[in-house]
Amino acid sequence: MAMVGGGAGSFIGPVHRMAAQLDRQIVLVAGAFSHDPDRSAATGRSLGLEDDRIHSDWRAMLAAEAAREDGAELVAIATPNHLHLPIALASLAAGFHVVSDKPATATLAEALELRDAVSATDRIYTLTYTYTGYPMIRRAREMVANGALGDIRKIVVDYPQGWLAEPIETEGNKQAAWRADPSQAGVGGCIGDIGVHAFNLAEYVSGAKVAAFVADLAAVVPGRLLDDDSNLLLRFDNGARGALLASQIATGERNNLTLRVYGSKAGMVWSHETATSLTINYLNGETRILHDGADGRSRLPAGHPEGFIEAFANIYRDTAAAIRGAPGIVDALVPGIAAGVRSMRFVERAVASSAARAGWTNLED
Ligand code: NAD
Repeated sequence: MAMVGGGAGSFIGPVHRMAAQLDRQIVLVAGAFSHDPDRSAATGRSLGLEDDRIHSDWRAMLAAEAAREDGAELVAIATPNHLHLPIALASLAAGFHVVSDKPATATLAEALELRDAVSATDRIYTLTYTYTGYPMIRRAREMVANGALGDIRKIVVDYPQGWLAEPIETEGNKQAAWRADPSQAGVGGCIGDIGVHAFNLAEYVSGAKVAAFVADLAAVVPGRLLDDDSNLLLRFDNGARGALLASQIATGERNNLTLRVYGSKAGMVWSHETATSLTINYLNGETRILHDGADGRSRLPAGHPEGFIEAFANIYRDTAAAIRGAPGIVDALVPGIAAGVRSMRFVERAVASSAARAGWTNLED
């Protein structure tokens, strides 16, 4: 694997590296970790890479790796959003498989362009919608598909964060700076950053697709250029109704993504802060709590908690399996470009619909 992004001080690139290497299916051999040569070199050397595998220009990295007999086969993209499309397109064109962080691209038009490129190649493209990698989320999804909850009637997903409650993008916070800049983040602020996780998770677990929504998005912090608070009512294609709340100004909140799915027989609740369990509440008042580790989906036995890195590693493990001969699991089990396009359509239409106070808006034409 070769990586773009993930330089010293970055957030998710180091998580990609840990996750990719957890099952010894993937080895990091090269990187363009930062556009700054010194930072990229320092990061690459700290990871034990040879100097000729460390770059500051990702195009040069792709060319160098493609020319080597022992070159990388897979490119991981962990940069700000505006670079996802050019790096993914160039990587696929040069014959690499791609694992990209979300959102797939910065705009819907870009996502459609990428979809065309993915469908024109036999290379694998996966998206790190991290929460789809949690064992209890995959179990929840199977339970819904098997009818354990009955007919799905209501889906509520809530993703509160508070770290952008103040204008830290103007105060030197590296992660906030590009997220608040439309030229790097894309058309969505909070909705593109974490709303897409919530949107994807609701569809992934429920099996239902968002058909229409009412969106009320706001830039709450004065001077902020992109939304930092998103509130949507949802209608799903199976008739279910629901809501999606995603906020980065929910003061004091950390990262407690919570999904609630209610069926005609039972309802289920999963929260990121208690990710190793899944609660099912039945009509008769009984509650069943399922725990990680009991059904072979986890790496560790019950009572030995796994978390974010292992969930991420499950996506990498599935990507490796797809590359090694099981391409059908992309889109079916692990998110691929189809999920990327849906999410970007959701972001772009929600932003436009909210600005126009358009009320109910269809997701598709
Ligand atoms: P970050 O600012 O912490 O890191 C971005 C990295 O990209 C930095 O190391 C920067 O030097 C590098 N970079 C920028 N331009 C580059 C270039 N031209 N060449 C090489 N490297 C370059 O950002 P982050 O929080 O790690 O987010 C990165 C991406 O991951 C974003 O798209 C974000 O949406 C996504 N993300 C996903 C999750 C998840 O749960 N899946 C969580 C956080 C972030």
